[in-house]
Amino acid sequence: MSDLRNCSRCGRLFGYSGRAICSYCVEEEEDEFKKVKDYLYDNPGSTVFQVSDATGVEEEKIMRFLREERLQVSSENPNMLLECEKCSRPINTGRFCQNCKNELHDSLRKEFGLDKKPTPPQDDMNTRTQNKDKMFTATRRK
Ligand SMILES: [Zn+2]
Ligand SMILES: [Zn+2]
Repeated sequence: MSDLRNCSRCGRLFGYSGRAICSYCVEEEEDEFKKVKDYLYDNPGSTVFQVSDATGVEEEKIMRFLREERLQVSSENPNMLLECEKCSRPINTGRFCQNCKNELHDSLRKEFGLDKKPTPPQDDMNTRTQNKDKMFTATRRK
């Protein structure tokens, strides 16, 4: 028996299957996504506004497609870029630029102790042995 919910897009009651919207709306969104994608393919230099105007898909939705990394703008298109959420550098898709992605990755590594420096340095070993020798002589002289 399936869980019934109201579609968050059209309000219709539908059998919940892991998505917040009904299958009708899923299809609609899929259609819209395709329209935007096709339009961008034919007109790679367009702005969000132009795409929205030509396809009838809301600008907000187009931005969402970009954020979700479903849609990618060619890097030659200066009109339709996202900003990295961390450093505001222009990016083509997703939420962070490659730099910040790497940084995030690095800090994760550090947090889990994967980046520890190799221990101990060679010099340290030498001093320790010398000290031991001295101590040994001292005790012998006693
Ligand atoms: Zn719906
Ligand atoms: Zn960044």
